[in-house]
Amino acid sequence: MTTPSQYKALFAPLKIGPVTAPNRFFASPHSTGHGWTEPKGAIALRAMKAEGGWGTVAVGLTEISPNSDYANHPMERIWDEEDIPRHHLQVNEIKKHGSLSAIELGHGGMQSRNLTTGLPIIGPSNLSVLRPEIPSQSKAMDLTDIKLFRNEHKAAVKRSLKAGYDIIYVYAAHGLSILSHFLSIDTNKRFDQYGGTFENRIRLLKEILEDTLELANGNAAVALRFSVAEPNKPNGISHEEEGRDAVEALSELPDLWDVNLSGWPKDSQTSRFADEAYQLDYTNFVKSITSKPVVGVGRFTSPDLMVSLIKNRKLDLIGGARPSIADPFLPSKIKNNQIENIRECIGCNVCVSMDAYGVPVKCTQNPTISEEWRKGWHPETPAISRKKEKHLIIGSGPAGLECALTLANAGHDVTVAETRNEPGGRVAQEARLPGLNAWNRVKDYRVYQLSQKNNSRIFLSSHMSINDIKEFGSDTVTLATGATWRADCVGSTNFEPIETKKYTILTPDDIMLEKFPNSTLDQFIVYDDDHNYMASVIAEKLLNNGHNVTYVTPLPTVSTWTQYTLEQAAIIERLKSLEIKFALNYKINQNFELINTIDNKKLKLTSEHVVIVGGRIPNDQLFSDGQLINTIQNVFLTGDCLVPGTIQAAVLSGHQTARKILDRDTDILYSKREQTIQ
Ligand code: ADP
Ligand code: SF4
Repeated sequence: MTTPSQYKALFAPLKIGPVTAPNRFFASPHSTGHGWTEPKGAIALRAMKAEGGWGTVAVGLTEISPNSDYANHPMERIWDEEDIPRHHLQVNEIKKHGSLSAIELGHGGMQSRNLTTGLPIIGPSNLSVLRPEIPSQSKAMDLTDIKLFRNEHKAAVKRSLKAGYDIIYVYAAHGLSILSHFLSIDTNKRFDQYGGTFENRIRLLKEILEDTLELANGNAAVALRFSVAEPNKPNGISHEEEGRDAVEALSELPDLWDVNLSGWPKDSQTSRFADEAYQLDYTNFVKSITSKPVVGVGRFTSPDLMVSLIKNRKLDLIGGARPSIADPFLPSKIKNNQIENIRECIGCNVCVSMDAYGVPVKCTQNPTISEEWRKGWHPETPAISRKKEKHLIIGSGPAGLECALTLANAGHDVTVAETRNEPGGRVAQEARLPGLNAWNRVKDYRVYQLSQKNNSRIFLSSHMSINDIKEFGSDTVTLATGATWRADCVGSTNFEPIETKKYTILTPDDIMLEKFPNSTLDQFIVYDDDHNYMASVIAEKLLNNGHNVTYVTPLPTVSTWTQYTLEQAAIIERLKSLEIKFALNYKINQNFELINTIDNKKLKLTSEHVVIVGGRIPNDQLFSDGQLINTIQNVFLTGDCLVPGTIQAAVLSGHQTARKILDRDTDILYSKREQTIQ
């Protein structure tokens, strides 16, 4: 297939110092969650991006030395010679597809944990480390320590060159680098030549860049990853002041500028809080200062926007971490004029949450991510199938649609029956809540793909009873019928149902289906015993409708789990701006009173409308009454109907179920594991 002429600019090679990128797609450095202990998984994941056409594939943050120990965050390591063969293999697997390989060398400074090594955490000054979970301070580096650090960085550069990397990063971004800690007036309290004035605070970054360039010596390009702004951080650098000054000071030194926002919550904003290209307002200026190539990120998924950024000289390379996770084949789909087949990132940050857990990355849109090596899954190649069968799937939510698509891709005959007059299940409903519109992509991608096949169909307004299922007559039946929000207060901190007649009890389903009192200035309590995003978007919707809302939770923080998707601070800001009231540490008791978990004081319930955001009950009645299983042999449960969870979990469950259906003789849950003693 020929590349559409309007996208040709995205496929023009670009010289980056001594190396040449084959195209403008740059898979930005990110942790895969496999870390250095599961290299085969990490390598296969990155090689998949190269296979999918990303012209440059970067390896995530790689610790240069034992005193930059991030464990148990699953980072890469290049501490000594023993690490080289692993990196060498990685380089080869990336280059096999004609892509450039890049390594992001980093030292965590005051963000290191050093829990494995027990070495002192080092930084510009003697201050508390930048990790609330580590009760320690950083050792203020003396000039000998600084020299030692430079030597360690140089040694890591030499090892990276030996491994064969094309691009070697100097890392000064996200507030996660010792070089950022030296630059920041917040953490640099020194009085010597490395502290005080801007020239002094940037000195170490400049020296490390010069060291790296000298060693690379034309055998590899040197990139600088630099956060030009730290919005909302007190004393943070700004793209109009020191962020700009730094770009001006180092302008022609690196072969490549990789620019972004800091900290990570600002760099990886979700679609709820920021649109595609949200970083450009901050990073735009860099190209006007340097003649060197510039790569930037901003959850880019639209080919038209990508082209306009290149043509209008905003960026030279289109960086993508999340878009490359959601669709490793994004570049080749643009190249082959298959734009409609792109699986666009929905900006939900479930991938990011896996980093906090320290496990291989998972993705709402791409259920095959991290399974490239462990299970041999490929995002574009159909699953292996033993024989062709006829399948009925009940429910068109994320699980049902993914299951259907995986079966249809394998050439099977698939029918999806859906009660509602629209497909998408919970995704279609939730996407109507404030800020969640991009989540429709989960549904849109799959519905479109199914509509293009003559072996699959979706019947809407088709509620299925047991008799309907029996009459339909298929080889397998999969129940993807979802789950219903509970009204009885059973949730994360309470397992006993609580009843009340005093108040109008509502659930997220009622709010999403607009079944709630909606006269102006009603008072609502949103009781969050789910702790993910749902209570906050329900509250936001009610506030937008002009109601008074109090957010109540038995936990000490708002939307506690959203700290893992980096949204918690943004959620609090948004709700505050809408003048919500917060009541933390209040738990509903059996008398339906809100009792403070610390001082036992009672919160007066002024509202007669209480939205309970707690647990969900699987809609598995078709299965649980036993009739179906007695008459049909191959019945499967999938997604929220099997076990309520996230949309990502539902998609993965749908995918797993389809593979189980396709190959019923194999244990599809089996994964290869990486053994360190062979
Ligand atoms: P999941 O997240 O597991 O995909 P969802 O709740 O998103 O689950 O989707 C379940 C879908 O199943 C809903 O759209 C619902 O209307 C549909 N559904 C539930 N019961 C039936 C049924 N008996 N017949 C057809 N569709 C059903
Ligand atoms: Fe995008 Fe969500 Fe997938 Fe992350 S998990 S890549 S944010 S769709």
